[in-house]
Amino acid sequence: MSQKPVRVRFAPSPTGPLHMGGVRTALYNYLFAKKNNGTFLIRIEDTDQTRFVPGAQEYIMDALKWCGIMPTEGPEIGGDFGPYIQSERKDMYRPYAEQLVKEDKAYYAFDTAEELDNMREQAKQMGMPNWQYNSVTRSSLRNSLTLPQTEVEKLLAEGAQYVIRMKMPRNRDIRFHDLIRGWVVVNTNNLDDKVLFKSDGMPTYHLANIVDDYLMKISHVIRGEEWLPSAPLHVLLYEAFDWDAPEFAHLPLLLRPDGNGKLSKRDGDRLGFPVFPTDWTTAEGELYSGYREKGYFKDAFINMLALLGWNPGTTQELFSLEELVEAFSLERVSKAGAKFDPDKTKWFQQQYLRAHSDVELAELLSIHTDGSHSLEKLEMVCHLMKERATFVQDMLVDGAYLLARPNVYDKETIKKKWKAETFELVREWSEELKAIENFVATEIESTFKAYLAKKELGIGAVLLPFRLSVTGVGAGPGMFDIAAFLGKEEVVQRIELGLIAIESIFNEA
Ligand code: GLU
Repeated sequence: MSQKPVRVRFAPSPTGPLHMGGVRTALYNYLFAKKNNGTFLIRIEDTDQTRFVPGAQEYIMDALKWCGIMPTEGPEIGGDFGPYIQSERKDMYRPYAEQLVKEDKAYYAFDTAEELDNMREQAKQMGMPNWQYNSVTRSSLRNSLTLPQTEVEKLLAEGAQYVIRMKMPRNRDIRFHDLIRGWVVVNTNNLDDKVLFKSDGMPTYHLANIVDDYLMKISHVIRGEEWLPSAPLHVLLYEAFDWDAPEFAHLPLLLRPDGNGKLSKRDGDRLGFPVFPTDWTTAEGELYSGYREKGYFKDAFINMLALLGWNPGTTQELFSLEELVEAFSLERVSKAGAKFDPDKTKWFQQQYLRAHSDVELAELLSIHTDGSHSLEKLEMVCHLMKERATFVQDMLVDGAYLLARPNVYDKETIKKKWKAETFELVREWSEELKAIENFVATEIESTFKAYLAKKELGIGAVLLPFRLSVTGVGAGPGMFDIAAFLGKEEVVQRIELGLIAIESIFNEA
């Protein structure tokens, strides 16, 4: 590893919302920087103006803020290497492209889009569908390598449209080391003469990316695998400028749950889980759902993402952000694509929900209520419900009967489990309940057991009917805890009302 201070960047293009794969890239950069006492910065790569989407940059910053992985340099934040938005650095790039032309490492190309389309079409008809502007074809095209010097000067003076292309060397093996993939070797005969500078006066991604990584003193480039094919060109550019290249680490793709292909932005809502950190609404009004709005804790989301492609080498699964910083290393990032697991993602959420205290959860739950319940009451609801919930809101929905009398009773369970004699048993049990003086769970339970013994009944004969008549549903937390929480009077009244409702359902059959 290089001795330079660690400086890493997350360099999204504002072409839309940040996919969770992008958040993972940002996260690994963040973890790597923190682990190595380095700097994590964000740079907005907006040189392709045709793909600019309004609101995307704000979305990205907001998402990183929610995740708690904010960079320390970037737009809106500042820093010594700004501006951090490439369109605001526009004038910096041309001299670098011109320098390469002067040194015969790049050239002006005057071919119009139409001319190039014709070339492509001709090649196709001759059985070559993948025509490229490269070290072979360039010799028969209109560029500063083929045109006489005077003609080139004339065209430039006239203000003719041109691009600057990389003069890709012929038949050279480009070798570079990737911290995740090991040695990568690509022959330049497989690479085209990429455009470095466009006719609209903007650099392409490749040139701007290299110039900025150099000027911003980036030590490690940690980015998605989709950029691996661009890396040989980047390595050549560093060489052309005579700059030290940073270390590279290309992260594995995020795959669909069935392992079949890359997780795309459309997969999420189609398969029933978010692929974005926060909600995003397109200009056309289409909503893509986000983890935040679905009710995920940011720590659960981050924990899950960290383990998508990285493993700590132990069986530990739950990590706070600080623990992730401590445990993280690029060496433990896998080469193979990481399958996204929506069930495991929910599991992480459940673990984080359970790890919250009842008081904390009550505060969060109160946001979802109309404000009519005391925090103490909500705290009890959380205490009773949290083991069965995934999201904070679930506790209100699944535990609605804790705060209000049920107005529906589970028909299916009644039809399956209720018997004609059950009515009488529940009535009798209600009389026993009335006689309990200290109405706490342990007392209710021991009274219940004594009652069953006296009647020589199995537990199922009365417990489920008791639950159904008080809560309306067939499952939930401990029934004696629920009863104690509701209080004697309420329980007895609920049984009376419940039996009436259940009787009419029972007779419907
Ligand atoms: N702007 C590129 C992107 O949108 C960044 C690639 C890189 O990190 O070099 O992902």
